[in-house]
Amino acid sequence: MPIRLIIGAGVSAAAFLQTSDDDHETVVVGEDGLWAKLAEHPMGQPAHLLQLPGTPVPTFQAPNGEMSLDNFLSSGVFQQGVSRIVAGKRYGYNPSRKVQRISKSRSQPGKYVAWFDHHHALIVDRIVIATGIGAQRKPPPVSGTIPSGLGYTQVIEGIDFLSDPDEYTANIDRAIYGGSATAAWVADLASQRSPRMNWFARPGGTEFSGAVLPGSRNAEIIKLCEDNDLKRLEEVEKIEIVNTKLHIHIKGKDYYYIADQFIYALGGDTDTRLTSSLYQILDSDIGDALSPIIDLNGALGAREEGVVALGTADRKVMIVGAATYNTTTPTLRNKQTAPMSELPWNAQVPDGIAVVGASISALNSFIPITQVATGEPRQWHDITITRNDININLADRNQLTILFSLMFDNWPSYLVESLTASVINERSQVSPVIPTPTREMFGIDRSELFSLIKAHAPDLTDFHITQRCQLVGLTT
Ligand SMILES: Cc1cc2nc3c(=O)[nH]c(=O)nc-3n(C[C@H](O)[C@H](O)[C@H](O)COP(=O)(O)OP(=O)(O)OC[C@H]3O[C@@H](n4cnc5c(N)ncnc54)[C@H](O)[C@@H]3O)c2cc1C
Repeated sequence: MPIRLIIGAGVSAAAFLQTSDDDHETVVVGEDGLWAKLAEHPMGQPAHLLQLPGTPVPTFQAPNGEMSLDNFLSSGVFQQGVSRIVAGKRYGYNPSRKVQRISKSRSQPGKYVAWFDHHHALIVDRIVIATGIGAQRKPPPVSGTIPSGLGYTQVIEGIDFLSDPDEYTANIDRAIYGGSATAAWVADLASQRSPRMNWFARPGGTEFSGAVLPGSRNAEIIKLCEDNDLKRLEEVEKIEIVNTKLHIHIKGKDYYYIADQFIYALGGDTDTRLTSSLYQILDSDIGDALSPIIDLNGALGAREEGVVALGTADRKVMIVGAATYNTTTPTLRNKQTAPMSELPWNAQVPDGIAVVGASISALNSFIPITQVATGEPRQWHDITITRNDININLADRNQLTILFSLMFDNWPSYLVESLTASVINERSQVSPVIPTPTREMFGIDRSELFSLIKAHAPDLTDFHITQRCQLVGLTT
């Protein structure tokens, strides 16, 4: 059986494993992904917006979206689901080894070699690169001598800070740099432990606004900082270590801020010259052959707008998931755009879990309906659909159309298409501000779905619709 290697053991690897059903034996290498490193944490979305494809859909629970984080999914629970999927597929005696280089096989033309080091390699038929957001952008220049024995790292990257509780030293002053959701999370933790804190974002970029996306929790953190005047729209030019303190110099200003710890979260570094860049790992004849696999059907957004993966023409080598959206190709230098405008607004994080799961499902044309035939297979009424993991909130356009075609097999196709469009429209409404608890940003729930169906077929009662749902294996 041909072998496919998935590089990476995070959400993207799990989503790929769940959605590909060809005749390859698939194995996984790499450490656990991001969520295994981060301690218990309420994630940016409730469970139904973080569901992995092919797993049972959690019941819709609208979080209140205020400071209470009830109903946001915990990172530990989420990671359990990822680990369960990946565990049985890990390859070799040391499955967390890193792949250092990918080349074409000389001895077996048409195959690829994943090198762990100069002496250890795996020859495979296909490679799926699911290596996540990759290297993070560097901090502004730091000068001076790092003092010893402080007990914390003076200048530290945001994810490194979040994933190491030893860095959460109490009663030191902190400066946070970057306006992203990751920075908001850092700011949340820092505000609980630092008597003084400043949160900086560079003017002219996405500023602090990007941090609102994954849940109004972040909006609340921003508000907290605003009420206490902790936010600064200023560009940090350089950092000077003076004794045990950091002097944080601002571009174009003659003053500086003083802090003990500087935490930067500036997003993915797309510099292809970095040694950890995929373009240093991929031999150039492979890297040059990669091009965007476009969302031609508009599965998750406007037709031909988003990129579901990068791949060679024969798709034997592909970059999927978060890595896709932080990657440039040698020929196309721009960051790739994720298809996501048809997902609930709260799930529209370019390299977030909903986009990862939904884009990989679309890439693999995954339709999660399992049919079990009982009795004579030719008698249609003996076919029972026993399970249906289509998540109305995350399903791509193709999945929804198939689902509704099965549910309403007597409808003309234009009505099925209209219902698909109205469900997508309803679930992806954008609320410009997050003033009060609102359900809109968390997608569509049962009662909304039922009323959209009734708008298309006024004769149907709740009882009828429930029966139709049962017919396709949906529990409501
Ligand atoms: C702090 C933070 C908070 C976030 N919060 C949310 C959120 O609340 N909701 C949301 O939807 N998204 C969130 N995201 C977005 C995040 O990118 C996704 O959640 C998700 O982790 C992406 O999955 P992935 O599998 O592509 O990458 P990862 O989970 O990062 O996994 C990458 C994998 O590749 C492996 N790897 C890398 N290089 C190599 C190599 N050379 N050889 C072998 N293995 C390798 C790694 O060990 C790892 O297993 C957040 C991101 C950050 C940084």
